Amino acid sequence: MKKLLLDAIRERPRLADGAMGTQLMFAGLEQGGCGEAWNLTHPEHVLAIQKRYVEAGSDCLLTNTFGGSRIMLNRHGNAGKAAEINRAAVEIARAAFGGRDGYVIGDIGPFGGLMEPYGDFREADVAEAFAEQARALVQAGADAIIIETQTSLEELLLGIRAAKEAGAPCVIGSMAYDVTLDGSTFRTMMGVDPERAAEFMEEHGADIVALNCGTGMDMERARQAVKRYRRATSLPVMAQPNAGQPKLVNMKVVYDEGPEHMAAGVGPLLEAGAAIIGACCGSTPAHIQAFRAAMDLHRGAEVGASSL
Ligand SMILES: [Zn+2]
Repeated sequence: MKKLLLDAIRERPRLADGAMGTQLMFAGLEQGGCGEAWNLTHPEHVLAIQKRYVEAGSDCLLTNTFGGSRIMLNRHGNAGKAAEINRAAVEIARAAFGGRDGYVIGDIGPFGGLMEPYGDFREADVAEAFAEQARALVQAGADAIIIETQTSLEELLLGIRAAKEAGAPCVIGSMAYDVTLDGSTFRTMMGVDPERAAEFMEEHGADIVALNCGTGMDMERARQAVKRYRRATSLPVMAQPNAGQPKLVNMKVVYDEGPEHMAAGVGPLLEAGAAIIGACCGSTPAHIQAFRAAMDLHRGAEVGASSL
């Protein structure tokens, strides 16, 4: 029988996947289009992308449901299909593994607004949207749920509660940090630092503390965040940095960190104690393939050292 994700990462670090959004654009999704709806309308494209990540060596795939809450889907008139879209996403990711024992991580992204009193959204509506999404992901067989690209602890908490109430076997909370203007440290847009986030997640029953995306959070900053998490909590840590910074070249958005450049930061991330490593915006199957090689090399060196 397949091990639970939490047991699997105790055995050795695991590799997640790279970006979905930019890959969907390459496959023809229009800017501003509803990528999550493709789980129903173009499942073959989503499957092809995820298969490439599996071939590159991913042990874990995040479902194509970042904007899969009914509040986000409502912008495209797809709120009524929330459950169906999320279920389909789990099935596609599972199919992408073929016969392999991979881990399907149900992805819940931000609901895309501000809650009262700062914004127009009622907390109860956000909680219900996350609950519906989490239920669909867990019922379809997700091995874990990640609440990612979070900047506020209030919204993160709604996601963690939704995942736990849905019975998710593993709950991952992932914050998006921005490097401060003077470059001295990083915190989320809402002012949360890694120590506070880690303590908060542990207190509210998350199983893995993570970081993803953000601004200026390269592999070295991700390493620093992993170290700070490890000092603040005994929970396992996951990191998914972006492929550098987005730049406009010939009217196209490109990310400035290639596979080899990013992969050079994998060993240090592992040494800092990361249990799951993936990549966020701008990363590709080529990045994940380079990560795989770096992780295997690192493991080989460790195994070699311990058998001396
Ligand atoms: Zn990102």
